[in-house]
Amino acid sequence: MEKDCLFCKIANEEIPTEFIYKNDNLVVFRDINPQAPVHLLIVPIRHIRSINDITQNDNDIISELISVAKEMAKKEGVDKSGYKIFFNVEKGGGQVIFHIHLHLIGGWEK
Ligand code: AMP
Ligand code: ZN
Repeated sequence: MEKDCLFCKIANEEIPTEFIYKNDNLVVFRDINPQAPVHLLIVPIRHIRSINDITQNDNDIISELISVAKEMAKKEGVDKSGYKIFFNVEKGGGQVIFHIHLHLIGGWEK
């Protein structure tokens, strides 16, 4: 766990947050400032700064983020209408929280 990292604190339940889903490796919660009718963040519990920092050791968790995103899209009822999943990478890429997270946005037309 990284000191002063907001998403480490959320993932380790130091900051109470309603999880849509949780397992041993990751948590899913709603973005506090949604950019779409459905806006979820899929966040590994283990601290990784950004996509720039992933190694082959992280292949499993990155793959799991994507497969859980697929399940969450279905759960939120946006799988058929469609959605976007993306990582912002570093400041120029719009990243403001430096603990890797996958965005899932959708729900414009269900
Ligand atoms: P990024 O710009 O990719 O780093 O995304 C960070 C996201 O985290 C933004 O969309 C914020 O709205 C969201 N966010 C920041 N603080 C919280 C929080 N406490 N709970 C939920 N979402 C948050
Ligand atoms: Zn962190």
